Amino acid sequence: MNAINHPAPYASWETRGYWEGTGRNELVLQRCRKCTLVQHRPRGLCAHCLESEHLEHFVGTGEGEIYTFTITEQNQARGFAQACPYIMAYVTLDEGPRILTVIVDCDPDDVGIGARVTAKYVKQERDDGEVFAVPVFELS
Ligand SMILES: [Zn+2]
Repeated sequence: MNAINHPAPYASWETRGYWEGTGRNELVLQRCRKCTLVQHRPRGLCAHCLESEHLEHFVGTGEGEIYTFTITEQNQARGFAQACPYIMAYVTLDEGPRILTVIVDCDPDDVGIGARVTAKYVKQERDDGEVFAVPVFELS
């Protein structure tokens, strides 16, 4: 398998903390201090309370398990075509949220629902000198 050449992430005011965290090899999640919901993708408000003033960021474990997966045999999108076949998966993080990701550095026959996985970070080159990364997962 060849590696995916991930497009450079765009950091909005809602997602900047997340992308800065990945650049430090950290999976930064959001937690609502009012209702305790842990959420991913980053948002400007709690998806349950619909309030913004109780949100905080914290560093997650980067650990989880495969909720479901597929072997992607065809994808003509730039950066992905040369990586086929690759393993696309939803991973349930230990903190609760699910993240859409890829499983790397393994034989597809070794991947299964419920398998434990750990995040690793694919650094992205940026023109502005900031370091962002795309989180991918490998079998634990
Ligand atoms: Zn809340």
